[in-house]
Amino acid sequence: MKRKTILKTLILIILIIFFISIIVIGYNKVAENNQYNIYEKNLEIPIFLYHHIVENKSEIEYDYMQTTKDTFEKQIIGLKNSGYHFISYNDLIQYKEGKKSLYKKSAVITFDDGAEDIYKIAYPILKKHNIPFTMFVITDYVGLETYITWEEAREIQNSGLGLIASHSQRHEDFSKLSVEQAIENVNNSYKAIEENLGEQKTKIFTYPYGLYGEGQSEALEKEGYIINLTDNKINKSKDLNLYGLHRCYPLSDSVFKIKLKIMYRSIRY
Ligand SMILES: [Zn+2]
Repeated sequence: MKRKTILKTLILIILIIFFISIIVIGYNKVAENNQYNIYEKNLEIPIFLYHHIVENKSEIEYDYMQTTKDTFEKQIIGLKNSGYHFISYNDLIQYKEGKKSLYKKSAVITFDDGAEDIYKIAYPILKKHNIPFTMFVITDYVGLETYITWEEAREIQNSGLGLIASHSQRHEDFSKLSVEQAIENVNNSYKAIEENLGEQKTKIFTYPYGLYGEGQSEALEKEGYIINLTDNKINKSKDLNLYGLHRCYPLSDSVFKIKLKIMYRSIRY
């Protein structure tokens, strides 16, 4: 009798799991290629942050700083195969303005610091897969050893895939700057970008070290900048804040782990 009850319970549990799976898989299949505008659905939009893409594992010193090219390409292909569409900041802005709809699964790729390995190693991979991306350069460092040159930056911009944006003049700690100094710094860095790359319609800034002082984001917003943070959080479409965009590190994680982290972080924050 007891055995029968256990068996019945087991069968019931299996049936419930089976039906839930059918509903979840079915829903994702239906929604995967649909586009949504801002009011239809609360989308999770991860902005991925990389620093260096390197040739070999032996070059990895800090996992948040370096990712191998194989891992990087696997992450991109894997996310694409999972239904992710890589979008640009302009897509995000137009989405926020209600002028554009987005895919259910959208993600943004960014690189901080403007390292030359991004031009040499990551850029060919991004071109191969036709993926838009943004490079945040430290404008005084452009052209120095191990950093991209303005010529390379121009090539990236002219490809139509890459956007060159600001990561300050000299990678200063903004928490130690006054609001006025912060504005001056970002304005000067954009002056250098525009002198070398022409007028920029979309101006985006990323705080070095992810650090900032009180009132800086509000002041930079008034100056017309889109602002990025480095806080490992996931953006939600319903409260998408273009003046405090969250970014997360994909590290050298598997695609499965990246997707789990997106799910976990969007529930937690
Ligand atoms: Zn940096």
